[in-house]
Amino acid sequence: MIAENIAAIRARMEDAARRAGRDPKEILLCAATKMNDASRVREAIAAGVDCCGENRVQELVQKSAEHAYDGAPVHFIGHLQTNKVKQVVGKVTLIQSVDRLPLLECIEKEAARQGIVQDILLEINVGQEESKSGFTAEETPEIAASMAQYPHCRLRGLMAIPPVSEKSGDNCRYFEKIRRIAVDITAKKQHNSLMDILSMGMTDDFEDAIACGSTMVRVGTAIFGARYYHNNG
Ligand SMILES: *Cc1c(COP(=O)(O)O)cnc(C)c1O
Repeated sequence: MIAENIAAIRARMEDAARRAGRDPKEILLCAATKMNDASRVREAIAAGVDCCGENRVQELVQKSAEHAYDGAPVHFIGHLQTNKVKQVVGKVTLIQSVDRLPLLECIEKEAARQGIVQDILLEINVGQEESKSGFTAEETPEIAASMAQYPHCRLRGLMAIPPVSEKSGDNCRYFEKIRRIAVDITAKKQHNSLMDILSMGMTDDFEDAIACGSTMVRVGTAIFGARYYHNNG
């Protein structure tokens, strides 16, 4: 099941890339693994996802101990509390969800303590939704311009979760907006910035995201099936 789903997603990703005149190899598939146990994560890795994205520190710690991610890089993609930064910095290859300044400062401190450079993405709250965290589109270039203050972090790009769309195509304007911000930041050649990743697109809108320049789609439901939130999920 999981392997077949991944093959189908890959085919759709390739089609979307070709339609956009892009090389399909430019676009990575990140499996959003929340609420899926180690054996299912291993199945996804065996079927060839490029990386795994975990939302909750507790799941990251548990599945890491179970060697769930062996063979694939693991990213953190959820809201990260500053008191849990120690459990994530240096444990994941990329923190995609740097959504506020105090978190960036905290990651910098911990990475410095460990003597490493932590790759990060800035998360943009592109739909300006109350329910979501993230930098505004306006402040994101300023944060990128201040990266010299965070020598133990390396800015790899931007991540965004646009509002839930009503129909396909609805989110293109958000994806376009993020891409433009990334292009502007890249053009300024900031300190410790690589700006090679644009993480956008999920189960419902990854083809639109690819059309608008995404280089990494984060897919959960289309790989693993629907998630059933039991108690406090
Ligand atoms: C769960 C999750 C996804 C995947 O969502 P689906 O709609 O299930 O594909 C992507 N990104 C983040 C940050 C998530 O939490």
